[in-house]
Amino acid sequence: MNIAQEVLKALKEEITEVEYNRYIKHLTYDAKKSTSDLAIFYPQNALVINWIKNKYSQKIAHLFEVKSGSKVTVQIALKNSVDKRKTKKIVEQKVSNSLLNPSHTFDNFMVGGSNQFAYAAVKSVSENAGNVYNPLFIYGGVGLGKTHLMQAAGNVFQNEGKVVIYTTVEQFLNDFIRHVRNKTMERFQEKYRKCDVLLIDDIQFLSNKEGIQEEFFHTFEALKGSGKQIILTADKHPKKIAGLEKRLQSRFEWGLVADIQPPELETKIAIIEKKCEINKVVITKDIVNYIATVIDSNVREIEGILSKLHAYSQLMHIDIDLEFTKNVLKDQMKENRENLTMDIITQVVAKDLNIKPSEIRSKGRSKNIVYARRISIYICRELTQNTMPQLAQYFGMKDHTAISHTIKKINELIKDDEDFKVKIEELSNKITSS
Ligand code: ADP
Ligand code: MG
Repeated sequence: MNIAQEVLKALKEEITEVEYNRYIKHLTYDAKKSTSDLAIFYPQNALVINWIKNKYSQKIAHLFEVKSGSKVTVQIALKNSVDKRKTKKIVEQKVSNSLLNPSHTFDNFMVGGSNQFAYAAVKSVSENAGNVYNPLFIYGGVGLGKTHLMQAAGNVFQNEGKVVIYTTVEQFLNDFIRHVRNKTMERFQEKYRKCDVLLIDDIQFLSNKEGIQEEFFHTFEALKGSGKQIILTADKHPKKIAGLEKRLQSRFEWGLVADIQPPELETKIAIIEKKCEINKVVITKDIVNYIATVIDSNVREIEGILSKLHAYSQLMHIDIDLEFTKNVLKDQMKENRENLTMDIITQVVAKDLNIKPSEIRSKGRSKNIVYARRISIYICRELTQNTMPQLAQYFGMKDHTAISHTIKKINELIKDDEDFKVKIEELSNKITSS
């Protein structure tokens, strides 16, 4: 696999299947014309160029940096329009840019009951770096706006001329490994310990990675000690992140821990309207309302739908009306489900609970394996078309009676055990939105 393929593969994890199949899958990488700081991709047709540029080029550039360790300018263009001299200029301009998405601003963030606490916390930190809540820890489910909020603060700081580092745990880890390998650890430490603001996204991936936790601990101490602002996000409360050193966990709670909840209807409506405005998609109020009621919470899914509506209507020269929207949505839900396999479900569950997919499908009886297996079986039953005998075979059980016993047991648990129920909901959401 070349680096571009790796990047697109990583991007696949971050966006919906529909988006991937529609826009990214058909991108061709020009290995000949691309250089170490310029990556050139050709889309399948001219209609989607702007969309891909606006929506994905920043993400792609970010992933290149994660994978290769150096800044890369991404160009999405038609095959014969790539002009070396022009691209050179873009490269020069872009070098100083950070990885922050410029459209992740406070103005573009719609506030409602579900997110106002987190919003207020991030906003006040952005006005008072290092002085109010340090660190600020934001947690909540997928696609609820954690990255957006964190970067909104980052953009404010950056505009004030502060040195802002935005990174994911994965990138931090890759960077660390690269510097260890090149024996340039001082440079690594200098980079992360001398910045004014450090934003680290998806902290839950520190889980069970001891080496990087150690390094991160020292980075944290150095920054905090000199009053530099740290903002962290995760999909759960620091207390709930398994395999996290106690000293890190307690430090994450030193400042303020704020949660983001799924948006309520009015907030969803406001978000959809904002996204339409930003992406220049024109739809009527009844369509906005319809989308808001059909999509339960993941805002990323809203964006997927808008992009699909937009692309379809452009390709087919049709105005977006309610009937058309209903069809497109039906399509999308069906596609989401058809693409979902038992493998995907067990992988997501296993990753979340820190065990191996093979253990879920084994006959292991230890408490955490049984727990993970029950959750996987339940979700497979709910979200895929597999029959009882197919489930039995997949999970290594004797026959369909064994499976139906298990499902009965799970239904009882869901009734009696709130934590279990919440976990199932959380994972189902994660699976259907990934
Ligand atoms: P998370 O990091 O929590 O998974 P993101 O910050 O990546 O979620 O948000 C997913 C998408 O939804 C982003 O494009 C973001 O701009 C958008 N989004 C989420 N919440 C809001 C909001 N309250 N207002 C506007 N856009 C939002
Ligand atoms: Mg995020």
